[in-house]
Amino acid sequence: MNSPVWHPFTQHGLGEPITEITRAEGAVLHARTGERYVDAISSWWVTTHGHCHPRIMAAIQAQAGKLDQIIFAGWTHAPAEDLARGLTAFLPETLAHVFFSDSGSTSVEVALKMALGFWDNRGTPRHGIVVMEHGYHGDTVGGMSVGARGVFNRPYQPLLFDVASIPFPEPDHEQVTLDALEAACRDNPAAFLVEPLILGAGGMRTYPPRMLAEMRAICAHYGVLFIADEVMTGWGRTGTLLACEQAQIVPDILCLSKGLTGGALPLAVTMATAPIFEAHRSPERSRMFFHSSSYTANPIACAAANANLAIWREEPVLERIAALGAGQQQRLDWLADHPKVRRPRRLGTITALEVGDSSSNYLSTIGPALSRVARSRGVLLRPLGNTVYVMPPYCVEDADLDLIYDVIAEVLED
Ligand SMILES: *Cc1c(COP(=O)(O)O)cnc(C)c1O
Repeated sequence: MNSPVWHPFTQHGLGEPITEITRAEGAVLHARTGERYVDAISSWWVTTHGHCHPRIMAAIQAQAGKLDQIIFAGWTHAPAEDLARGLTAFLPETLAHVFFSDSGSTSVEVALKMALGFWDNRGTPRHGIVVMEHGYHGDTVGGMSVGARGVFNRPYQPLLFDVASIPFPEPDHEQVTLDALEAACRDNPAAFLVEPLILGAGGMRTYPPRMLAEMRAICAHYGVLFIADEVMTGWGRTGTLLACEQAQIVPDILCLSKGLTGGALPLAVTMATAPIFEAHRSPERSRMFFHSSSYTANPIACAAANANLAIWREEPVLERIAALGAGQQQRLDWLADHPKVRRPRRLGTITALEVGDSSSNYLSTIGPALSRVARSRGVLLRPLGNTVYVMPPYCVEDADLDLIYDVIAEVLED
């Protein structure tokens, strides 16, 4: 197929197949050629309740008949007002202000700018950002700067700004991480940015809630803003609405995107506490928050997010998530004793395991081989190097979950 399309994270020189999908429902994708695929990765972690969810699709259709887009500086609309009110009511109450953008990366950029703006507007400028090793926060220049450095961003390194990085809290080495955070906080950085409980793109690495709570406490002690990037973990992925809940913490700034619209349309929010908003509020125009994107709070995307919120409020979503978690655990246990499987683990609806030896990296060949076999067997899987993970929509059928694990087992046998 000769197409002018340039795909993301795709090496066009390898001639690997690119499948055209024409239709989707629940956890199942249908290709133009008639094949059926189980979406084992929620279309890159966005689809929560299922593809083409009737309530979300109906909300999009209804809104599309009324208002498509309106400038959001000095103007507003009901879908955004309802969503902001809904989010502040549904999420921890100290997160009282909602700033809209379009993607996870921009929600993180906004969070960083809010943090620096907070300190600058208070007359005590701070610029340092502390992050965790193996973190991922998006592919924009700011997102790359605060994320892990590697083959993904090597050509752009000279452009990336410096950050302080603390080690990932490996089991039995957790104090090293806490000591490093404390040392970094003594340099008065503006903020600490972290993915709560699980580092997604960094290889589905999990750490316990207790660590998250201790890191939160250190930041509070030193007056360093705590930014939680829940772009992937939010909306139930880890078993609770937010991963932060499991540590009983509330960040100063919260980034949400992927599941915000149930995965139907691009939208993100960065939520902030009153002190951060108040630091920008002033009779001085020069202290306003200098950020916007053309489609800030697009009404149709907001309508989709309101429908997602209604599903969360009115349906037993947490029960579905618990059932999926149990189903995931049962099938992971089938694989756990296989000699090629290392570190099988589960957090909420997500399972992950390592295949083969530990000398692998993102460009390891196991990933593409597994993706290929899975595609031929009707499953969409996309390992991160040697890390195979399963993160399906919450509505995945038992038989389809079986198929996903059968395919992984089959590849392990080769
Ligand atoms: C996916 C992701 C992002 C980036 O979101 P995009 O919508 O792809 O820009 C940021 N942070 C985390 C933790 C993510 O998983």
